[in-house]
Amino acid sequence: MKDTPNYKLALSKEEMQDYGYKIIDHIVDHFETQKHKNPVALASREEMDSLLTERIPEQSTPANEVLDFVMNQVIPNSNIVSHPKSYSFVPGPSNYISAMADTIATGFNIFSGGWAASPAAAELEIVTMNWLLEIFGFPTKKGGGIFTSGGSMANLTALVTARRIKCGSDFSKATIYLSDQAHSSNIKAIKVVGFKKEQIRIIPTDMEFKISLNKLKNIIARDRLEGLQPFCIIASAGTTNTGTVDPLDEIADICAHENLWFHIDGAYGGAAILAKDGQHLLKGIERADSLTVDPHKWFFQPYEIGCLLVKDHNWLSSTFSEKPEYLRDIEGNESEINFYDHGIQLTRRFRALKFYMSLKTFGLESFRKAITYNIDLAEQTETLLRKSALWEITSPATLAIINFRYNPISQNLPEEILDRINQNISKEIIASKEALLATTVLQGQIVLRMCLINPRTTIEDIKSTLEQCEMYGEAQLLAKNN
Ligand SMILES: *Cc1c(COP(=O)(O)O)cnc(C)c1O
Repeated sequence: MKDTPNYKLALSKEEMQDYGYKIIDHIVDHFETQKHKNPVALASREEMDSLLTERIPEQSTPANEVLDFVMNQVIPNSNIVSHPKSYSFVPGPSNYISAMADTIATGFNIFSGGWAASPAAAELEIVTMNWLLEIFGFPTKKGGGIFTSGGSMANLTALVTARRIKCGSDFSKATIYLSDQAHSSNIKAIKVVGFKKEQIRIIPTDMEFKISLNKLKNIIARDRLEGLQPFCIIASAGTTNTGTVDPLDEIADICAHENLWFHIDGAYGGAAILAKDGQHLLKGIERADSLTVDPHKWFFQPYEIGCLLVKDHNWLSSTFSEKPEYLRDIEGNESEINFYDHGIQLTRRFRALKFYMSLKTFGLESFRKAITYNIDLAEQTETLLRKSALWEITSPATLAIINFRYNPISQNLPEEILDRINQNISKEIIASKEALLATTVLQGQIVLRMCLINPRTTIEDIKSTLEQCEMYGEAQLLAKNN
């Protein structure tokens, strides 16, 4: 670019094309070659400081120079969460159609806050929301929802809504119930909206990591006796640790009986409704008042898109509508939804577009098949591990998550040694950068956890990672015995 300040922030047509095509080539190359790269990037703060810290650039730099720097120094220093051997946390398999759809949404900078700014964007959010309502057995006419940045924001939006509907403005005596396996974003949301620690009831889980119904009922009864106001149960439909689904039907019964708000956090497991096995496990999900799902997880969308579904769309508008004078002219009529009235954000990117375009391009059938494949893959992995005398299953394959540990039966190793060995296996795998396989803690044991929601992960990928684990495990046994 020129030396004089480019204060129009504009490029020529040729410059834009050249720059844009280069970026597309990089992205396509990434989709094509990522499986041959290592999924893990490791770098310390010192290393990143020395690579990236610089003064505010007062003068211009040629566009291609900045792009090359980013492609060479920034992008490679991030984990590849869509890599077939990225097993940890919740992978982000993504898909190319949605990546391009996000490019369109950003390229045209479509304002997805109000109807008047983009009737088609609002309509597509309504249309895709209706698809989701139908998928989850929510009423499509009365029901509603909103796309958010992710599951955390969806849970927060749900909680604000639940509190207003059930408690009004005084929530000083309100109490809320969730299991010790519920996702941390729920606790965060509870704190953000101003509940005190004494208002939160963490219910222990049973051997299968499901919320204990008996304890739940007892604590609710005790709180009532103490004059408190139980108002909401948060159930997990697929815990992040083990994929466990709380007993949704039974919790729905308790909520109906006790007049409590029923929120389901299905950010991880909700998408499994598209598979036969998942549908069976998620029975009762349709009885929630509000449901979080997270398309940027198991619906294969790139970050960021989360979603909150509610039984009655009026709950959202009555909670979040403000009528400032500067938005008077664009209010429109009631059927023309302004999504800024359904949640916290005013200015919103056009998130519905990627969900719409990818679903329409691949077809729901492909999504069903992908999710079924993922669930099967975890079950195959379980079979593989059970056949070996080196491995022990801690939590069986559930909604594509499996937890296990290296524990050769012949060795009879004490718990603290097993913890150390499994922690070290994970450390060494990650240090090799060949697979992202982290640990979690279940019932006091350090275990390895695989979350297999990438439809491009194969059983061969898993076998090769397990062999690598066995090699590290064996080396540690030898070192210990010498
Ligand atoms: C990931 C996750 C969340 C948080 O969602 P984000 O999109 O990361 O904000 C909430 N609940 C569960 C069960 C999750 O797995």
